[in-house]
Amino acid sequence: MADRPPRHDPAAPEASPPGTRAPRDFIRAIIDRHVEEGRYPGIVTRFPPEPNGFLHIGHVKSIHLNFGIAAEYGGRCHLRFDDTNPETESEAFVRAIQEDVTWLGGSWGEHLYYAADYFGRMYEIAEELTRKGKAYVDSSSEEEIRDARGTVTEPGRPTAYRDRPVDENLDLFRRMRAGEFPDGAHVLRAKIDLASPNMLMRDPLLYRIRHAHHYRTGDDWCIYPLYDFAHCLEDAFEGITHSLCTLEFEINRELYDWVLDEAGFEEPRTHQYEFARLNLDYTVLSKRKLIRLVQDKHVSGWDDPRMPTVAGLRRRGVPAAALRSFAEMIGVTKADTRVDVGKLEFAVREELNPVAPRVLGVLRPLRLIVTNWPEDKVEWLDAPSFPPDVGRDGSRRLPFARELLIEQDDFRVEPVKGYRRLAPGREVRLRHGYVVRYQSHDVDPATGAVTAVRVTYDGASKGGIARDRDVAGTIHWVTAVHSKRVQIRLYDRLFNAPDPDDVPEGQDFTVHLNPNSLVVLDGARVEPSLASALPGTRWQLERTGYFWADPVDSSPHRMVLNQIVTLRSGWARNERAADEALQRTLGGLAAGEAPPAAPPATTRVPSAADRGREAREAARTKDRQLAARFLRYQDVLGLTADEADLLTGDRAVSDFFDAVVAVHPEARSVSAWVINELPGEAAGRALHELPFGPTQLGRLIALVDQSEVSRIAAKEVLSELAQQGGEPDAIIERRGLRQVGDRVALLPHVDAVLAAWPEKVQEYRAGKKGLLGFFTGEVRRASGGAADPRVVRTLLEERLG
Ligand code: ATP
Ligand code: MG
Repeated sequence: MADRPPRHDPAAPEASPPGTRAPRDFIRAIIDRHVEEGRYPGIVTRFPPEPNGFLHIGHVKSIHLNFGIAAEYGGRCHLRFDDTNPETESEAFVRAIQEDVTWLGGSWGEHLYYAADYFGRMYEIAEELTRKGKAYVDSSSEEEIRDARGTVTEPGRPTAYRDRPVDENLDLFRRMRAGEFPDGAHVLRAKIDLASPNMLMRDPLLYRIRHAHHYRTGDDWCIYPLYDFAHCLEDAFEGITHSLCTLEFEINRELYDWVLDEAGFEEPRTHQYEFARLNLDYTVLSKRKLIRLVQDKHVSGWDDPRMPTVAGLRRRGVPAAALRSFAEMIGVTKADTRVDVGKLEFAVREELNPVAPRVLGVLRPLRLIVTNWPEDKVEWLDAPSFPPDVGRDGSRRLPFARELLIEQDDFRVEPVKGYRRLAPGREVRLRHGYVVRYQSHDVDPATGAVTAVRVTYDGASKGGIARDRDVAGTIHWVTAVHSKRVQIRLYDRLFNAPDPDDVPEGQDFTVHLNPNSLVVLDGARVEPSLASALPGTRWQLERTGYFWADPVDSSPHRMVLNQIVTLRSGWARNERAADEALQRTLGGLAAGEAPPAAPPATTRVPSAADRGREAREAARTKDRQLAARFLRYQDVLGLTADEADLLTGDRAVSDFFDAVVAVHPEARSVSAWVINELPGEAAGRALHELPFGPTQLGRLIALVDQSEVSRIAAKEVLSELAQQGGEPDAIIERRGLRQVGDRVALLPHVDAVLAAWPEKVQEYRAGKKGLLGFFTGEVRRASGGAADPRVVRTLLEERLG
C-alpha cells in the first residue's frame, strides 16, 4: 500500500491504475491465447455505461476488469457512453461517470465515445440489411409482435408484414426516420428465424420510433436503435477486440454475431465474453432500484454515504485503492455469486490500517473529573500516532487536564461479567495518560442517568504504565476544554436483509430498509489535533472505527465526521450475536442507569474475542501468506469470514488446519473441529505439544463425516487422543464406539420405541411431523448412543408410513 499524501479534492485520481498485478482468470486465459496466435494487432476493451444513473460497486468490477486488462496487455480501454435511450439519459450522469472512473484510476486517454455519435452509421447499416432482405418493417402492435413470437416450446409465427417487399420496407423505414409516423406505428425487425430455440433470434427488433429529445443529439432522431443492434456495432466501429459483459447477456451473443456478420465485419473482429456480475449482500445494485432510493428520498442523494455507488463510497471516505483491492479479491468467474459485504469492509480496513493516524474521540461523552489533578494544570502528552505493529513514525500532542470526557459506555455502576472498563472500586488506564481509580459518581435523580464520575490519578503511571496492578482495561478520553465538538455520522447497512429483493408477494425491496442505517451524534468530541490535520485525512478513532470529514457538509467551523468502517466486522454472525447478548445483559442489569444511548446496531461492546480479532488482523497485515490464506479459506474452501479469521491469526494454527485438510479435504467440518473442539482439549498447550497430530485428527473427522462414529463418541476419542495420543480407529474399536448403521440391528430399537409411545405415534400420523426428532433421540438412547441418526430417521419414516 502506497504511502501517499491525503488529497483534498475527493474526486481527484488516487494512486496507480487498476489491475497491474491481477491474477489469471478465464478471460485473461482467452486473451493470452489470442495474443499468442497474434490474432489482433492490440488488445482493445471498453467500459460502456449507460448514462442513466451513477456508477455502483458492480461497475467497479467491470471497470477494474476492462481497464486492468488494457493496462496489463499494453492495449487500451475506451470509455463509451451507451446512450441509445433518449428518455432516461443525461449530461449530468455523463459527468458523474467520468469523475468516478477517473477517481478509480481508469484512464481512457483520447478514447471517449458516445453511441449517439454513431446513429448515422447505424442507420446506414440498417438500410443495408433491409436492402439485402435481412430486415423488414413490421406494422403490428407491440402486443401482436409479442404474441407471434411463440414460447419456449412453440415456434413463433410470422406477422402479416414479414414478407413485405424490399422496396416497401425501405420506403417505410426512411419515412420512419423522417418522422412521418407516431411512436409505436412501425418497428424495424431483423429477419432471422422464427423457429429458433433462442427467442432473441426470432426476428428481433432493431429500431423503434421515439419522438423524444436526446441529451446529445437533440431532436435529430426520432428512431432509436435497440441494444442488440447498437452495442455490437459500437464495439465493431471502435475496433474493440474483447467485449466483456455480464452473464445475462450470454443468450444475446448469437445475435451479436449475427448482426456483425450480416453487416460485413470480418474476422478478426470483436467477440463477446461473459462473466458473473457482482451481487453484494445487504445491498441492491440495480440502477432502477438505486434511482428509487434517490427519488423517494430514502437517502440524501446518489452520493449518500450509505449508497453502494462509487460517489457514495467516495464521500463516505473509502479510498479508491480499497475498491480496487476488493475487485481483485473477488476475481472474475463464470459462477454467479453473492459476495459478503464483510469482504468489502475487510478491504477498506486493510487499506486504512497502515495509513490512518490513531486519535482519540468520544462519541457520547460522560464527565470524568480527576479530583487530585490541579485545577488549572494542563499537561501536553506526546502520543504516538501509530501502534508499533504499523511501523510508522509520527506523534501528536495530547492535552491532559482535570476535566475529561469518556464514553458513557465505558462506565457502569454495576458491571457485568466480562466488562473490562471503569466501575466502582476499579482502576482503568486512560490511553496515553494515567491510571485512574474510581472515587464516586453523580446520578441525575430525575432520570437515574450517571452525569459525572470522579477518579484519582496515579502520578507514577504516566503513559498508562501500571505494572504491579490489575487494571480493568484501557479506555479513551478527551479533555473537556481542548476537545473539539464535532458531528459524527455512524452508518450501518442500508438494508437489514442479506437479499433485499427477497420479499413477500406484493411488497418490494424498500420494506427491508434499515431504519437505523444513519445515526447522527451531535455532541461528540475529538482531540484537538484533528483541527490542524491536512484536509482529506482519514483517522482511526481508537476503539471505534475509521473516520474522515464529510467532503460536502463539513467545514472548518463545523466538522462533520463520517464513519468509513468500524474497526472490526460488527456484523459477523457470532460476534454480533454475542455483542447483542452482552447489550441485553448490560441493559437488563444496569436498570436505573441511563438507557443505552444508541440502538444496538451501532453500540458494539468490544468483547475479549474482539481484541483477539484485532490481533489476528494485525498478524495478517504483517504476514502476507496469512492474508492470502484468509481469502483462500473463504473463496476456495467455502469457510465463513469468521472461521477464516480464527484460523489465520497465526501460522501454527493455519498450518495445522491445512495439514488436517490434506488428510480429510472437507474443509468446513475440519474448520468446525479445529475451532470448536480442539482448544478445549488442548487445554492451554501449544499445538506442537499435543500427543497427536493432523493425521489423527483428520482421520477422526473423516470417520464422523462417514457416519462411522457419532459426533459425541468422536469427542470422547479426541479427549483420549489429547491425553495420551494413539490412533482413532484403535480407540474406537477398543471402546466399542463404532456407530451402528446396520438396519437389521437397529430395527428392534425402532419398533420398541414406537410401541412405547402409541399416542405420539398417533399425533405424528395426524400431522405433527416434528416428532420425528423426538423418536430419533429415543432410538439412539435405546441403542446406547451408537445409532446412526440418518439410518434411524429412514427406518422411522418407513415404519411410520
Ligand atoms: P444495472 O443492472 O445496475 O442497471 P447496467 O448493466 O444497466 O446496470 P450499464 O451502465 O449498462 O449498467 O453497465 C455498464 C457496464 O457495467 C456493463 O458492461 C455491465 O455489464 C457492467 N455491470 C453492470 N452491473 C454490474 C455488476 N453488478 N457486476 C459487474 N459488472 C456490472
Ligand atoms: Mg445495461
